[in-house]
Amino acid sequence: MQHLNKTYQIGAATVTRIDEIPLPNVVPSVLYPDLEAGALEHYERFLGHGSYDRNTGTLTESVHTWLVRFSGYTILVDTGVGNGKTLPAAPQFDHLDLPYLDRLLAAGVQPEDVDFVLMTHVHADHVGWNTRDEDGLWVPTFSNAKYIFSRTEQRYNASLSGYKQAADLPPPRLGGPVRQPASNVYDQSVAPIIKSGLAEMIDVNGTEFLDGISFLPTPGHSVDHASIRLRSGGQEALFLGDVMHHPLQVYRPDLRSVYCEFPEASRASRRWILSYASESHALCFTSHFAESSAGCVTRGTDGFRWQFA
Ligand SMILES: [Zn+2]
Repeated sequence: MQHLNKTYQIGAATVTRIDEIPLPNVVPSVLYPDLEAGALEHYERFLGHGSYDRNTGTLTESVHTWLVRFSGYTILVDTGVGNGKTLPAAPQFDHLDLPYLDRLLAAGVQPEDVDFVLMTHVHADHVGWNTRDEDGLWVPTFSNAKYIFSRTEQRYNASLSGYKQAADLPPPRLGGPVRQPASNVYDQSVAPIIKSGLAEMIDVNGTEFLDGISFLPTPGHSVDHASIRLRSGGQEALFLGDVMHHPLQVYRPDLRSVYCEFPEASRASRRWILSYASESHALCFTSHFAESSAGCVTRGTDGFRWQFA
C-alpha cells in the first residue's frame, strides 16, 4: 500500500523521505566490527524499538532518498540502489525490481521534474537511481537534472574502475583504506551521467553551489564523502549520508561501520559533524536510520544524544 511520509519544513524548504528498501535484522557485530560483546545492553535504553529489535538482538536500518523542494527547485539527495543493478558483493541489492519511481510519483514528482540530484558519495546505495536500464543501456533517470557530486569521488572511482588513473588518490591524510567501493557502480550509475553531459563535479569545501546549499567535507566513509547543508530562514538541515548508519553511532562515534573505507578519518568526521549538528541545532536527515530517519543531535555531559523528529 502506498503511503506518504512526513514532510519537514526548514525555512522555505520542504523535505520528504522517498522509501526504497527497509533493512531489518542487521547483526550488530557485522555492521560494527569493533563493537564489543555486551555493549548493546548498555546503549539499548537509548534505542527505540523501531531501531533495535530486542527479541532478536538485531538492528533495523533503511535505504531511502530525500526529496527537497527549495527555491522553486525539485532536488533529490542521493538516489538509492536502483533497479536491475549488478551488485554481486551486496546480494540484498542485486538486481532489484522495486517501485521507487512510483513512490516518487506519489510525492508529486515525475523523473523529468527533478532539477538537481545531489550525491553525498559514490557508493552503490546512493547513486543507483541516477540511471535506469533502457533496452540494455544505462540512461539518466532524471533527464533534465544536473547531477552534483565530488570531483574527487568521481576521479577515485573512475580510477578504480579502469578509467583515467588518479595517482594522487586516495590522499594519505585519510589513513589506509580497508576496502574499496563495489565494482560496477561507476560503470552503471556514474559514467553514463558524465557521458550524457548531466554531471557537474564540484570541490567539497563548503562553498554554496546554489544559494543556501553546500557540501561539507566529511571524508572517511568514502574518499570525499560530503554532508550536505541546507540553510533557509535561519534554519538548517544536514543530509548526513553515511557518516552514521544507525543511532548507535551517535552514542558511539568511535564505531566505524563495516562499509567505511577509511576508518580513522570516518571517526574524525563523525565527531566533527555530531559536534556541528548539536551546535547548529540542525535537523539531520540520515541515509540509513529507520523510524523517521530524521532527528536532532544534542550534546550531554557524557556525549551526544539522538532524538527522532
Ligand atoms: Zn549507504
